[in-house]
Amino acid sequence: MNKTIHHIRQLFGDMLYTMFPDLCIACIRQPKISGGFFCVECLHNMPYTDHFNIRQNIVTNHFKGRITLHHGAALLTFRDLGIVRNMLHGLKYKGKKETGIILGEIAGRKLIESPLFETPDIMIPVPIHPKKKLIRGYNQSGVFGHGVSVASGVKMSENHLIKYTETASQTGLSRTERVKNVSDTFAVTRTDDIMGRHILVVDDVVTTGATIEACCLKLMEAGAGKLSVLTIAAGG
Ligand SMILES: [Zn+2]
Repeated sequence: MNKTIHHIRQLFGDMLYTMFPDLCIACIRQPKISGGFFCVECLHNMPYTDHFNIRQNIVTNHFKGRITLHHGAALLTFRDLGIVRNMLHGLKYKGKKETGIILGEIAGRKLIESPLFETPDIMIPVPIHPKKKLIRGYNQSGVFGHGVSVASGVKMSENHLIKYTETASQTGLSRTERVKNVSDTFAVTRTDDIMGRHILVVDDVVTTGATIEACCLKLMEAGAGKLSVLTIAAGG
């Protein structure tokens, strides 16, 4: 029953997105404040993390003992049925590119103000398969990265790391095998630009972290000097 109510709410929310473009991009209920993107309530309740100022956080802890990160941060704390979920859903499934760019710009400003992030040389979004990109019209991580790039001045490339084949079944694989399995679907196209550089990997959300880890692995194999991670959201 609860699930049905949730689906109805979701559907209603999706309709509102389309019908009322002036509604807050997070709750899709209240009007945006003048010149802004959120309503007053969401503006005050936005679950920003302290990751830009704290060395040990959910993101860095997530990759501890697996990938050596220069630093890692998520802009927001992910809560399953909350406003963060609305925004991620809108960006990934409802064509709300604007949401990704806005969140990217906020994250980009925090990145350059952070005492823990050295400015990366290049930013690389977690790639998606070209077929998926064709259907969606964009890579949601690339859209977020574009916003980060606009605000921080860090150049983004969607051509240095590509996903050239679909991921084979992950059933029955250990975590390490899963990461390797995903990593085998990625290819670095221009190693010269990666070698010895500080690469910022951007994605929409850290869930298991296996995909981001697989990207980092591939970039390390290509000679990346330093790796950092930035996402819109992380659990916890
Ligand atoms: Zn709102």
